[in-house]
Amino acid sequence: MSLPKLPREPIRPEKEPDVDNDIWLPEWKCFCCHDYGRVSPHLASLVIPDYDHWKDKPPACQRCSKGSDKVGSFEYDQRFNRSICNELDKIERDNWTQTIKSQQKHILDLKKLALSRTMPGAGERTANDEREIRQRKQEIEAISHEKWLAMSNEYLGKEEALPQENMPGGLAHLGGEKP
Ligand SMILES: [Zn+2]
Repeated sequence: MSLPKLPREPIRPEKEPDVDNDIWLPEWKCFCCHDYGRVSPHLASLVIPDYDHWKDKPPACQRCSKGSDKVGSFEYDQRFNRSICNELDKIERDNWTQTIKSQQKHILDLKKLALSRTMPGAGERTANDEREIRQRKQEIEAISHEKWLAMSNEYLGKEEALPQENMPGGLAHLGGEKP
């Protein structure tokens, strides 16, 4: 079987960046009926398991002003009460919050992926580094033995000269900087 792809399940979801901030919800006042006054079919089916929204009366929403227009009308199912509609409203808000969260998570993952691809370090950079190292090695190998000797003599000469000429001043300078 092919394995499922599951999203992360953070231990502290409230600590996840960008996930809990600014949960955008639809601007419905009533999530039970999405401000239409009739209970949304998928919510109605939570109360009427075999609800058929093509054949059955839509339940009137009992929790908002849009629904109050439908209350008492024989065209609407009047059996839902306020506490049922309040519960459906809560369920729908939770559904939307979860949907938004997973969308934000998806966006966050895409951003991280894009960032990791544009960040220096991986493929190309390593190849460049290796090329540079190889080039420097070739340059160093191309230096003749005589030149090496001259260079090392020059280096050693300077190093010997340093303590004699610069040390007292350098030490004084360092001493002066200490509190
Ligand atoms: Zn409503």
